[in-house]
Amino acid sequence: MNKSNELFEKAVKVIPGGVNSPVRAFGSVNMNPIFIRNAKGSYIYDVDGKKYIDYISSWGPMIFGHCDEELNKVAINALEKGVSYGVPSDVEVEMAEIITQAYKGCEMVRMVNSGTEATMSAIRVARGYTGKDKIIKFEGCYHGHSDCLLVKSGSGTLTFNVQTSPGVPVDTVKHTLVCEYNNIDSVKETIEKNKGEIACIIIEPVPGNMGVVAPNIEFMRELRKITEDNNIVLIYDEVITGFRLSYGGAAELFDIVPDMVCFGKIIGGGLPVGAYGGKSEIMSMVSPVGKVYQAGTLSGNPLAMSMGIAVLNRLKNNQKLYIELENKAKKLEEGFKSNIELSGVKAVVSRYKSMLSLFFTDREVNGYSDVVTSDTEKYAKYFQSMLKSEILLPPAQYEVMFMNATLSDKDIEYTIKANLKAFMELSKY
Ligand SMILES: *Cc1c(COP(=O)(O)O)cnc(C)c1O
Repeated sequence: MNKSNELFEKAVKVIPGGVNSPVRAFGSVNMNPIFIRNAKGSYIYDVDGKKYIDYISSWGPMIFGHCDEELNKVAINALEKGVSYGVPSDVEVEMAEIITQAYKGCEMVRMVNSGTEATMSAIRVARGYTGKDKIIKFEGCYHGHSDCLLVKSGSGTLTFNVQTSPGVPVDTVKHTLVCEYNNIDSVKETIEKNKGEIACIIIEPVPGNMGVVAPNIEFMRELRKITEDNNIVLIYDEVITGFRLSYGGAAELFDIVPDMVCFGKIIGGGLPVGAYGGKSEIMSMVSPVGKVYQAGTLSGNPLAMSMGIAVLNRLKNNQKLYIELENKAKKLEEGFKSNIELSGVKAVVSRYKSMLSLFFTDREVNGYSDVVTSDTEKYAKYFQSMLKSEILLPPAQYEVMFMNATLSDKDIEYTIKANLKAFMELSKY
């Protein structure tokens, strides 16, 4: 038995499912997980010494690749100054200045420890600010695992077919209304039916938790207008997209500015960080200025802030990097598409900027109802075949391949070759 399997056997006895986040269990790709020993650049190594090209990138944060020397130095220097104080420190101010300068409409920001905390808190603030209870989210959009957002929420819940979750009281989700992404009429109807009762609309401006779905700018524009007209707080969940699509996120890219925004993933450079922010008027609701309570023992942790600052400073004015990341994804897209033709496999490639998904369906992918037509069993076979070729893809159909700066042309060309091999095997079924 290999070491990963040995570890998994031990893990399942002491950790539910052997993992600390469900998708990591590799259940939806019909195998046991690999356990990682270390990672460097675009490569990740398992405990059995196998090397893989990594397209998970810790689900986005490792935008400069693993174990970047400059970033590691920053972390070591920060460690030497103390890991956590529980009283304010200079790096918290610096981080807040960087985020508020980077993101249009984000005048104030509060640091938290995860994306889940960011969205949960933003919704509390939006409710406090508007004095209303109901919220709208979109089918297939994931905003972390807080109770009121755990409804038709994509990512692992979609993979495991969880509409909501046991343990979430019906009373908690009765204020959560679900609309269809890219369908403005579904939003209009819901607002009409709940006139004056909706506090906020939360959305992934580019959905990345049902796989990548390209945004519809006109839909986003109408969403902005309808929320303005109805005094509804518009929240962009940019936990994936923030600082990935562009330095100013989707707000800059679409030139459509939300009232509030949530960050996570990249802004911690691999350490546990989240943030939520918005207009000063709204953020002034937050304790201790306002009455909406939200706190955190490790929030603004100096180690995490130092790492985040270093990552964001390196991304700033780095248009070249964003173009390079997109080009890597584009190259993969083109390669995969030509392999689809060569092999006759029923699949489509969905890409937006440097976010990429391959769906085993023949439908054009514009939203939730399209992505769920994917053949997840086929994805499982594809995943395993790619893993054999030493390529680590997200271990679930409804996730994104994340590019990082260290991914070389050679890595990409190799990936395209392996993809053709996998498709050829698949076309036999
Ligand atoms: C990952 C993610 C979250 C949750 O972040 P965690 O740090 O895992 O709690 C929230 N929203 C989106 C869009 C995400 O992709």
